[in-house]
Amino acid sequence: MSDTPPTYAEIAIALPVLPLFTYAVPSGMTLQVGHAVLVPFGARKVTGYVITPEATTEREGIRPIERLLDPAPVLSPQQLTFCRWVADYYLSGLGEVIAMSLPSTYRRRTRRVFVPSDSGISRLADQHLTEGPTTTLLREVVARPGRSRSSLVRRVHGELDEAEAGRALDALVRARLVVTEDREVGGAAGRIRTVTLTPQASEATQLGGARMRGVLARLTEAGGPLDLAELISLEGEGARSAVGRLVQRGLVTTGTREDRTAAASPGLEESSVEPPPPNPTQQAALDALAAAETGTFLLHGVTGSGKTEVYLQAAARTLASDRQVLVLVPEIALTPLLTGRFRARFGERVAVLHSGLTPVERLREWRRIRAGDATVAVGARSALFAPFRDLGLIVVDEEHDDSYKQDDGVRYNARDMAVVRGHLAGCPVVLGSATPSVETWSNAQNERYGLLRLPTRATPRAVPRVELLDMRGQSPRDPLAPELTSALRDTFRGGGKAIVLYNRRGYAPVVECPSCGGHYECPSCGVGMVYHRKRGRLICHYCAFYRQFQKDCPSCGDELQVLGHGTERVEEALSAAFPDVGVVRMDADTTSGRGAHLRILESFRSGEAQLLVGTQVVAKGHDFPDVRVAAVVGVDHILMLPDFRSAERTYSLVTQLAGRAGRGERPGRVLVQTRQADHFVFRLLAAAQQLEGTDALDAFYREETRQRRLLWYPPYARLVMLRVEGSDRRATHARAVELAQLLRRAAAPERRVIDVLGPVAAPLARLVGRWRFQLVLRGREPRRFRAWLKENRAGLTKRGRGGVRVIVDVDPRSLL
Ligand code: ADP
Ligand code: ZN
Repeated sequence: MSDTPPTYAEIAIALPVLPLFTYAVPSGMTLQVGHAVLVPFGARKVTGYVITPEATTEREGIRPIERLLDPAPVLSPQQLTFCRWVADYYLSGLGEVIAMSLPSTYRRRTRRVFVPSDSGISRLADQHLTEGPTTTLLREVVARPGRSRSSLVRRVHGELDEAEAGRALDALVRARLVVTEDREVGGAAGRIRTVTLTPQASEATQLGGARMRGVLARLTEAGGPLDLAELISLEGEGARSAVGRLVQRGLVTTGTREDRTAAASPGLEESSVEPPPPNPTQQAALDALAAAETGTFLLHGVTGSGKTEVYLQAAARTLASDRQVLVLVPEIALTPLLTGRFRARFGERVAVLHSGLTPVERLREWRRIRAGDATVAVGARSALFAPFRDLGLIVVDEEHDDSYKQDDGVRYNARDMAVVRGHLAGCPVVLGSATPSVETWSNAQNERYGLLRLPTRATPRAVPRVELLDMRGQSPRDPLAPELTSALRDTFRGGGKAIVLYNRRGYAPVVECPSCGGHYECPSCGVGMVYHRKRGRLICHYCAFYRQFQKDCPSCGDELQVLGHGTERVEEALSAAFPDVGVVRMDADTTSGRGAHLRILESFRSGEAQLLVGTQVVAKGHDFPDVRVAAVVGVDHILMLPDFRSAERTYSLVTQLAGRAGRGERPGRVLVQTRQADHFVFRLLAAAQQLEGTDALDAFYREETRQRRLLWYPPYARLVMLRVEGSDRRATHARAVELAQLLRRAAAPERRVIDVLGPVAAPLARLVGRWRFQLVLRGREPRRFRAWLKENRAGLTKRGRGGVRVIVDVDPRSLL
């Protein structure tokens, strides 16, 4: 009989809920911070993470932890501290943040599945069985036992609608023809079987089988455990049974080890590994980083100025002092070059965390980092949460890129959290860009960040100047200005290549009937549908809803008109103008397949294609030496979006694209078509020709920050957007109004610091059938704003009723 009092633990649940929950610790279970456990939660069982292993409680009826999911903690105290920071900053639940931060293989939960009972099975044999929804469902459950509700409903989709199928399933459960079970899904995988000698093995003398002798000899030679797979490859298939017999004799034991095989990385592997000697500005940047123990630096260098080389040499220095390096990139598929350069320089020590990895491959890379086998990690935003032992440097390449911001769940910005992680780890953070975000630029101006500048290209070529082509006089039917066509012609004649950007995919954005004015709108989003000619469809770019395209107007039968342009149509116009030139298109439609990005870039690099057309992906980080013309055929619609970052996005996109031109022996040209040549963004882009290097950018930031200061936009204020979404317009609006009142009351004492704006209908007022209203909280004094948010966190995130939900977006990238 033991009288030890029950112990309790505080657990963060892997669901979007704010509080921690207390559970009883079963006797015999020893918990540590960071252990993953399975706990009952409502009717389900979910993963939770131990935050406090020894807690107390006054409450009664505390439920016990079901079991430990992994013998070792799944996250270290440092990782937990970081997750706590992220959860606090983004007003999210700690368990939700932890779950998001771990490879999906760590996430385990139970799923309710349906299996037939004996009476259910015999009922199907019944002669008098009547056909109907319940019979359909029963057949399905008997044919495929162990499926979840949603999967069963999907399977009978052709015959029954969702509600009918659900009711029929419930009826079957009530009649006990079908029973439910909770099955565990997910779970860590990827262990390798190993074989180890026991102390008795050295005394073994007479062994019958040659295989057994062979296995023992290999193990003795290895002087430690060997993988079973390796023994089999050395000694043949018979090694498996030989190991079995050796186990029986007590001469070897078997076990498992973590699989930490390095994953293959996509990338254009670069061969030269010899680093070039840094030029004076690179050296100055490297010295500043070497001298800094912590702190954040903006590495501002025009495209091709040698930023990547600074990352590489700073990384080499960090590795020499036995610390690890994290390199964040916007998207691995778009940065094969950078990944390849790290691989070329640091080989197997580089772990590449990209979206093409299977869950088990990702887990292995994760383990390589935790074990210290991998000392450099290159990855997209989720790599921020990797289990480094001792981080010595964080690099965020293209720090201005919007893809650092996660756009669902916990809406964190990996760039901003990299600064926090660097601070917690005590290491410098380098934010690199040719076009830094306005926030980062202003942090460097106020000297909160150190400023490192590489004002000229590392190679003798200057960044080409921007030439504006004013399109106001030209018919909108023709997408190409004559100057552009002739520049392209000269380029191709001279054996050069060109990149053309048009920032909208599809063939044409408007399909209209000339007689009755009828046009197509997405029924659930209320926005125009875009015509995709190759697929013969009209597609909604927000929800992917589509319908077949017909030539004739459905209401009056007249022939429809296809107006405006998309990349598909621009490609068509270019192919018609240059029939002998190979054209490739890169946009979301051509790059959905695995490896599609690389194939397109490779065909352009090899010269098979001389013209690359696409959306903004064509402006990202590529380095092709013989691009002589980089052209913008259309970006005006970005500038017209009602969003405070429109000017910044346009400026940055054009500047990035300009950086693709003239990287080789021959100079390049940058041509920009616009109907808004008087807008300050375009004026400054064109004026950049007179200013040297980064001065041109400063002129843009000065103008842009002047406007933002007047309007209290970031970086002069912090924003939190609350989006209230629901399928019923009136209920959604009512909830938004109610929330606004609540927040206004709560913000009253901080009237001078916090403004509550709205609710207003979002510029995209309805998406995927849901109405959207938004409220914006604006804090003019960051510290007090944060404290207030933290205090009012529960009220902000309270879930809506009746299908209305509230999404909280801290530091939103846009207000659309
Ligand atoms: P960024 O990352 O700023 O675009 P990179 O680091 O890719 O610039 O450098 C652009 C080109 O210049 C690359 O081909 C690179 O190899 C070369 N380069 C960079 N630094 C030097 C240097 N110190 N000496 C010679 N070539 C260099
Ligand atoms: Zn839609």
